Amino acid sequence: MKKTKDFLRTRVEDDLASGKYETIITRFPPEPNGFPHIGHAKSIYINFGIAHDYNGRCNLRMDDTNPTTEDPRYVEALKDAVTWLGYRWDGDVRYTSDYFDRLYDYAVELIGMGKAYIDSVDEETMRLNRGTVTEAGVRSAYAERSIVENLDLFARMKAGEFADGEHVLRARIDMAAANMKMRDPLLYRIRNVAHYRAGDAWHIYPMYDFAHCLSDYIEGVTHSICTLEFENNRDVYDWIIDALGLEPPRPYQYEFARLSINYTIMSKRKLLELVDTHKVSGWDDPRLPTIAGLRRRGYTPEAVRKFCEQIGISKANSTVDVSQLEFAIRDDLNPKVPRVMCVLDPLKVTITNYEGSEEIDAPYYPHDVPKEGSRKLPFSREIYIDRGDFSEHPPQGYYRLTPNQPVRLKHAYIITCDEVIHDASGNITEIKAHYHPDSRSGADTSGIRVKSAIQWVDAIASRPIEVRLYDRLYASEVPQSMDDLNPDSLRVISGALIEPAVIAEKPDVRFQFEREGYFYRDPIDSMDTKPIFNRIVTLKDSWSKKRQTPTQPSKPQPKKEQVDGEVTPMNREEEARFNHYTDSLGLGSEVANTLARDSKLASFFETALGEVVAATERAKITANIVANDVARHIKLSEGAPLLLTPTHVAQLARMVEEATISSKIAKEIFEVMAAQGRDPEQIVAEKGLRQISDPAEIIPIIDAVIAAHPDNLAKYHGGNTRLLGFFVGQVLKATGGKANPKVVNQLVQERLG
Ligand code: ATP
Ligand code: MG
Repeated sequence: MKKTKDFLRTRVEDDLASGKYETIITRFPPEPNGFPHIGHAKSIYINFGIAHDYNGRCNLRMDDTNPTTEDPRYVEALKDAVTWLGYRWDGDVRYTSDYFDRLYDYAVELIGMGKAYIDSVDEETMRLNRGTVTEAGVRSAYAERSIVENLDLFARMKAGEFADGEHVLRARIDMAAANMKMRDPLLYRIRNVAHYRAGDAWHIYPMYDFAHCLSDYIEGVTHSICTLEFENNRDVYDWIIDALGLEPPRPYQYEFARLSINYTIMSKRKLLELVDTHKVSGWDDPRLPTIAGLRRRGYTPEAVRKFCEQIGISKANSTVDVSQLEFAIRDDLNPKVPRVMCVLDPLKVTITNYEGSEEIDAPYYPHDVPKEGSRKLPFSREIYIDRGDFSEHPPQGYYRLTPNQPVRLKHAYIITCDEVIHDASGNITEIKAHYHPDSRSGADTSGIRVKSAIQWVDAIASRPIEVRLYDRLYASEVPQSMDDLNPDSLRVISGALIEPAVIAEKPDVRFQFEREGYFYRDPIDSMDTKPIFNRIVTLKDSWSKKRQTPTQPSKPQPKKEQVDGEVTPMNREEEARFNHYTDSLGLGSEVANTLARDSKLASFFETALGEVVAATERAKITANIVANDVARHIKLSEGAPLLLTPTHVAQLARMVEEATISSKIAKEIFEVMAAQGRDPEQIVAEKGLRQISDPAEIIPIIDAVIAAHPDNLAKYHGGNTRLLGFFVGQVLKATGGKANPKVVNQLVQERLG
């Protein structure tokens, strides 16, 4: 997939090439009236990213022209957010309020040119006079005031002689303009309030339309990038700069689509409401889409930037699925964080035949062999496992501990349950078990087969922690009001137990708690006496299924997305593999999906396939063996060294393709090959499993089968042709699965006549 340049970068490159600007200067211009959110991260990523890519500069400017809502606390939050995301603004933080004097001078200049006037009608009249989209507006009679009178009134507005709303300064543009924003827009209004920075120096404050373009000009900004809702303001932006005849180079405004994400809100006003009404614990509540919230929850700046990169820059508004953000953090953490064990719902297990204690060296990255790092796991007679990992009356397909089924304690021993202890109300309170001393992970000679490995912690050495499990803030996809808040967005678990190594690590280390998700120590509430861990994200997207309610029938999924309930989007590398497998190798989407999403399986498959790049039968057979048998084998072997090699799999696939063996026999060979690491050809030879394709050998068997079933033969001749399958099956069975099914099929038809 070729990466195409976004329209902003294309423009910047054109402007540099034509010599319009020597240096690119962008700016991120938030209003300090709330904490920045992930939407702002997109704007930061774009503005700082472009400046960086083209050796330019990006300013951080507080767009602080509204004295009633702004606060230095928000300025700090904005600076923190930019820094945390990994960017550095040019020079000092800038403030529109620092330009108030210059902006005032520009206004006086406009008045002097007759291009602005003081209007004194009330708000309602002004609104009526503006007209509608289909009707031209009417210019106020006050527009006839002389320049001298306008200058005098403007100076007195500044000096605080009038009440709020008594007068405004308006640009004289066009009351009939098709763009309503051009119908004599407001430039200044009276606000008799103090400003958090400028104090009470001012009684008039500039409007966005006037302040923004001129602040950009003052700072030498070249590309003023904003969101789409400012599209119509662009005409005013240009008009003001033109009317003042400002020397080039001048800035131009470009718009991109703002970010919105489902199941959350992204307006500072609404976020403030949640904070003020204590629906959340503060601006940094880990459920909020604020940068401070994401950061406290454990998101990394890399993941947020990656997300911004993946959503791209477009000119059409759309909503991004929140699972995409979750995918970005999973993708970031998966390869780099240590995997440890935490038991959320502890159930005591006493290992009756174990004496003393030991420390087991367990790898932090069991699935990533080349990555070093391990910790000591204390083990003794009493341990805790998760309540969900034991079942007294297991449903079918239950792989964990039961009274009849032993299980492996991850990184440690296999245990077998001997006794289940209940309290008076029948709840299980403890399990008594024995361990198998010769079953230690990595040195298992016990020969006991288990179906899974479960997490556990030592009773004495483990530490109690509080775990905070977060879910989506809103229960509805497009929240309308606070009624739509998800009542289960926070679940607190107070009695979880964690292995001691986690507590000993530095507080900012993120972990994968096996099977439970990715976790981060809460930087605010966590205490040494009571550690608290936030769940950053689950290991898999669990909402995708929940969301498909009967009232919203799910659309047929495009083949690239959903297979097997797995709907996390693929990353670029996985998608490239998927496309290659389906498009060039002709694999089915299910098999391609399995391989593409697992880089180890994919590389195993590609090695086994060797030079083949076309859609051959061989590719399909190899893919099936790897996606099914190899994958299953890896899972069962729990990180034990693989005896299976891609070369052996390749040989096996070739024998299937050349019909040396049947695919049924191939399964049998595979098991031997996987367990003993042996050459499949040898196994075939040794066991006499070579496929029989010679009619001379097969026909006598067919005839015998036919002779043994005269009733079915009669029915077949009576028109029940489905019985062909019966005869073929019988013949294959009679050869022990060694006969070539294609040949058998054809011969049976012939013999049946
Ligand atoms: P909100 O409406 O969420 O309160 P805002 O637009 O009032 O946000 P500002 O502080 O004015 O917030 O925005 C600073 C910059 O961030 C502006 O350039 C704005 O266009 C951009 N921005 C704000 N929200 C988003 C968003 N959801 N997606 C992308 N950019 C955004
Ligand atoms: Mg705004």
